[in-house]
Amino acid sequence: MLSPEEIIEYSKRLGISFARAFPPGLLIPQERVRGYCRENKCGSYNRNYSCPPSIGTLEEIRERLGQFQQGIILQYSQPAVIEKGNRELQKTKIDFHLKILKLEEFLKKTGAENVMGMPGGSCGLCRTCRAVESRPCRHPGRMRFSLEAAGIDVLGLLAQLGMDNRFYPDKINWTGCVLY
Ligand code: SF4
Repeated sequence: MLSPEEIIEYSKRLGISFARAFPPGLLIPQERVRGYCRENKCGSYNRNYSCPPSIGTLEEIRERLGQFQQGIILQYSQPAVIEKGNRELQKTKIDFHLKILKLEEFLKKTGAENVMGMPGGSCGLCRTCRAVESRPCRHPGRMRFSLEAAGIDVLGLLAQLGMDNRFYPDKINWTGCVLY
């Protein structure tokens, strides 16, 4: 099994901006955060398979997160104008998702049996999620849900870890993690 330092080193080679080890026990799904999803200001609630309610109850997510002993939190920063519908911004989200899938693969190849990546935001692998038409997910093996969707207070988590949790008008800071 690789050391966290080796995983962090590989993350950097993938182009991840920042990575550090953290205990997965800090990931606490909260009803308050799930409530923000229900408010549906982003429009993805019940319209994306990587978002609630499709990803299960907070209790189910707690059980899933409880399987992991180690984690690496990841940030991917890219210049982007932060506005809804910006295709460049959407591309940075997909890039981050794909980098996390590569990191998962790397961990599996190097001996980790149980690995789960969590990218940022709702899954953007398809232009329109098939959940909108109640058709099966197009890439069920590649779809992942985010920390936010799992009910995690991401800003609070970043503050706890002494990481940048500010918003910028001209830069996106996607946050995710890989658990193993
Ligand atoms: S892979 Fe496509 S259908 Fe599946 S959750 Fe992502 S956007 Fe939706």
